[in-house]
Amino acid sequence: MVRMPLDTSGMTEDTANRMIARLSREMADTVNRDMDGYLTIDFEKFSVYTLFIAPKCYIMLLVNVVSKPGQDDTYKTAAYFKGVESTRRDAAPTAKRIIAGAVKSIFDARGSRESILAAVFEVRKQLRRLLDGQYDLSEFVLSKQYNANYATPSPPAHVQVVERMRARDPGSEPAVGSRVAFVMVKRPVVLMRGAFREQKAKAGDLAEDPRYAIAMNLALDIEYYIRRKLVNPLMRIFQHIIANAEQVLFGDVYRELDARRRISSSDAEGEIGRYLVTRGARCRMCNRINDKTICDYCERKAQEFDQCTGRELFDRRLQYWQQRKQKCEDDCRGCQAANDAPVRNIDACTNESCPNWLNRDYARKQAVVWECASKQQW
Ligand code: SF4
Ligand SMILES: [Zn+2]
Repeated sequence: MVRMPLDTSGMTEDTANRMIARLSREMADTVNRDMDGYLTIDFEKFSVYTLFIAPKCYIMLLVNVVSKPGQDDTYKTAAYFKGVESTRRDAAPTAKRIIAGAVKSIFDARGSRESILAAVFEVRKQLRRLLDGQYDLSEFVLSKQYNANYATPSPPAHVQVVERMRARDPGSEPAVGSRVAFVMVKRPVVLMRGAFREQKAKAGDLAEDPRYAIAMNLALDIEYYIRRKLVNPLMRIFQHIIANAEQVLFGDVYRELDARRRISSSDAEGEIGRYLVTRGARCRMCNRINDKTICDYCERKAQEFDQCTGRELFDRRLQYWQQRKQKCEDDCRGCQAANDAPVRNIDACTNESCPNWLNRDYARKQAVVWECASKQQW
């Protein structure tokens, strides 16, 4: 890499790109002339903004120069991640998505003060969506390669998932060498010493096959995803950009997670399972036992974060899941039409590796949950 301190202020992006490309080519020609055939270098691309995080770990806004004989160069700009967690295959898709959104905000305004504020705003917005259960199931699916032998006395989470799948339905488990997909589900809540508490469990006990989690209405452990899969990757980037980054990004989230933990048994059913629960005297938003249709906690949250009443927020959530369900089903119809499927029945699709396959079932269940709740009297 060669660093070129250039002042491109006052130039259009295209003019600046042309100037950088011309200077870079001149540099490459000079090196090639001096090396006299011992070494040849080619100029390919340049970066206009780079975020160095650690050795061998950086994010660049790369400009690829596409040259065609007899034509002017064209420039294609794209973010390039090196060594950042979001490029790892075992990273949570949620983390990849939130990091990509934050980096896009930073790059859009080339690292200015406004771009940093936009990135912080974007991360906080996505974390709120995550807490409110507005992410598709495929965003939570983790995966690890399944090997034949493991030396550790207690097998890792994905191996336990394979064992459980084998016990439930022999032959349904992934083969050795393939990747095992799993989600982390919430700890069961049990009655202990006169109070409802979360049962102690290791990560391996909480990993589950995503299809089984949907079928059995198991709630996702949002706290695990935030504390174990999101905090570190985001902090690695933001600690270099803003002061007191953890407090700024996660302060509200930690408070919300603590508040949720304090809630007792009624929270046990969680996001997916709520529709199994008789709605009797429960809050429609969070399903906690409550004598109001929307509890004080959810009402306060709606006013604080969404600037609306609890009921308006409830209607928005209902609409969101109905639209999501419709979108997933439309995507499947479009996919079958495009592939000229012999049988046009979206439920007949067996392509389990397609993210829409899980998302469609998840969105359908969520829509049922919210529709059931909306039919009850306010
Ligand atoms: S689930 Fe099946 S039909 Fe739907 S988009 Fe994926 S491959 Fe296509
Ligand atoms: Zn509530």
